[in-house]
Amino acid sequence: MSDDCIFCSIISGDIPGRVVAETDDALAFLDANPLAPGHALVVPKAHTERLADLGADESRAVFDLVHDLVPDVEAAVDADGLNVGINDGEAAGQEVPHVHVHLVPRFESDGGSPIHAVAG
Ligand code: 5GP
Repeated sequence: MSDDCIFCSIISGDIPGRVVAETDDALAFLDANPLAPGHALVVPKAHTERLADLGADESRAVFDLVHDLVPDVEAAVDADGLNVGINDGEAAGQEVPHVHVHLVPRFESDGGSPIHAVAG
């Protein structure tokens, strides 16, 4: 837990998050500024800034939850596919320094451009 981390505050319940799934070591909630309807984030509960700093158990917890959620998120918004990605490090566009995996629903109607084109 880091006092000045927005995702830690969502994990602790200090600020509200639209939680979609939870396990012992990982949490999934909707992105506050979604790139598409149903855009969700999966985070480790333990505050960890960079992917390489995640322990093996936390990494497994995060990616297991990503794997479980992919069909659920896709079905929830009737999407045709998903972009799944991590901005790892400031140079890669990471704005919140707590590891998070983006699940961005995609639709045949949105043109099929790759995620970098969607995110600008
Ligand atoms: P990054 O650029 O770090 O990969 O993405 C950070 C993501 O966190 C962005 O998509 C942004 O919309 C989302 N975000 C930032 N602050 C909050 C917040 O307070 N609540 C939620 N649910 N999402 C947030």
